[in-house]
Amino acid sequence: MIYFDYAATTPLNKEVLNSYYELLNKYFANSASAHYLGVEVNSLQERARKQIADLLKVKDDEIIFTSGASEANNLALKGVALEYANRGKHIITTSVEHPSIINTCHQLEKLGYEITYLDVDSSGKVSIDDIKKNIRKDTILVSIMFVNNETGSINDIESIAKFIKNNYPKVIFHTDATQGITKMKLDLSNVDLLSMSAHKIYGLKGSGLLVKKQNINLEPLISGGHQEFEYRAGTSNWPANVALAKAFRIAMENMDNNYKIVKAMNEKVRDAIKDIEDIDINSPIDASCYILNISFKNKKGAVISRFFEDEGICISTVSACSSKEEPKSYVIEAMFNDTDRAIGSVRICFSHLSTAEEVSKLIDTIKKASKAIK
Ligand code: PMP
Repeated sequence: MIYFDYAATTPLNKEVLNSYYELLNKYFANSASAHYLGVEVNSLQERARKQIADLLKVKDDEIIFTSGASEANNLALKGVALEYANRGKHIITTSVEHPSIINTCHQLEKLGYEITYLDVDSSGKVSIDDIKKNIRKDTILVSIMFVNNETGSINDIESIAKFIKNNYPKVIFHTDATQGITKMKLDLSNVDLLSMSAHKIYGLKGSGLLVKKQNINLEPLISGGHQEFEYRAGTSNWPANVALAKAFRIAMENMDNNYKIVKAMNEKVRDAIKDIEDIDINSPIDASCYILNISFKNKKGAVISRFFEDEGICISTVSACSSKEEPKSYVIEAMFNDTDRAIGSVRICFSHLSTAEEVSKLIDTIKKASKAIK
């Protein structure tokens, strides 16, 4: 089976797997225990925290380990909303965020918060001007994703964060960087909160983190012991946290090289399909090269991905289903205001692990699908 769904999850890096296995074989203690067994594993975890903090150029105690990006997003949004409710109850985000942001916002709406969902343009980006127009006296948080998980559209997070910091210093800025971090550089100087996940960077599933700058406070979602600076109680999954540091370091070290490999693949596929009449390329030309979203005219994403599967290729449709409506991508619909295009979209995701043969087979299959599926 050929895998082109790396934005859904990545295989575990062998080095990460081996050291994770060794850790579990050698140690079992609770990192909160005061005895030497606990102290030993706690120091491994704190070393991992420092490694990640150094790579992100933040302070050690600005890293909060979580079970993944969904939890980090929930902690960021709900944590800020509850902590700063006396300042205001207005939050700005976009209409194309991951469901772990959108559905968290829906929960907050039920609690009396007002959420502005900014529209995106046909390249899937928000404009600073739009953010400016929508900031109010009671705005406490702006949350804008770095790289969109369906299209690879990249928001200029550094400029947005700088704009907010310079003009609205009391407004907190969060970014869901799950699909961008370790794939392209991001300066966190003006970012207050950032979410990421281990299993998108060849680490373990059920692992991730929230960067929280020291001047920001959060109401914890999980109360209990003193773990994670009291922002996230519960016995630490320290082996996963140590593994995350390893996966993170490897990914950062290989960022430029992997980018070159993947960019060439992406360009090859784009070039091969650009003249096929019943295919629209949805990912903008300056999108992350790791994600290529395309729509087949008058076809359904689910039918296309099944066709690919029959040809031995895993790709995905990212669709929000409602019982009455045809499954469709809310991201593609928001970008192009075109329901058919949203129904016919599929996502292809590349990795430095993808081979030239796999890419050739992918191109052949796209061409075949455009002719074969009626
Ligand atoms: N945000 C984005 C942009 C994602 O792509 C994902 C994973 N699909 C998540 C958040 C959630 O990550 P996790 O699986 O670690 O909860």
